[in-house]
Amino acid sequence: MTRIGSILTLCLVLCGCGRHIGDPVPSSCGVCGGNVVPISSVADDRIKPSRNISVWNRSICANPFYRDSDVICTKCAHAYSTMLKAWSLALQDSGGFQKPLHVSILDFPLPSSSNVTFGIVYRQTLAASNRTDSVSFWCLDDEQYLAIIQRYSGSSGLSLRETKGNGRLTNQVHVLAEHKMRSNKTPGN
Ligand SMILES: [Zn+2]
Repeated sequence: MTRIGSILTLCLVLCGCGRHIGDPVPSSCGVCGGNVVPISSVADDRIKPSRNISVWNRSICANPFYRDSDVICTKCAHAYSTMLKAWSLALQDSGGFQKPLHVSILDFPLPSSSNVTFGIVYRQTLAASNRTDSVSFWCLDDEQYLAIIQRYSGSSGLSLRETKGNGRLTNQVHVLAEHKMRSNKTPGN
């Protein structure tokens, strides 16, 4: 092989890893210490519930926060985004988290199932110095229910964001309740 050919081969090998200098990918899980694998090596089995809605939200929009070279834990399913510099796991099942959600999120009063208009999602995110547990969903804009969750959030120290829908979503409201904690975890290991 010529010298130029060797240099080209070396460039292809270096670029082929798909990683970006300055964006280190953790070698183990920052949440449970488990093994991690590239997200691109894991298939999304659409017959089953998404193993992490942060990565596979199954909408028609691609998720811009995760690169193929970012990693997911084989044990607890938290995924690391080099862009967000955080580990995140989102599930519809509040009991599916290896590190249990904060009790204020587990006990968050949900609307009746007939008033939920779009899926309830629980999320746990660990960044450099904080951990955020949250629950979010769309529901019917019911004043009585909203008063209940405002009181609950106030007494539980939750941050509550209500966003009223418009157009097709008139009479609906998006609810996001978050519990933030300080964390000593280093997100990138
Ligand atoms: Zn893990």
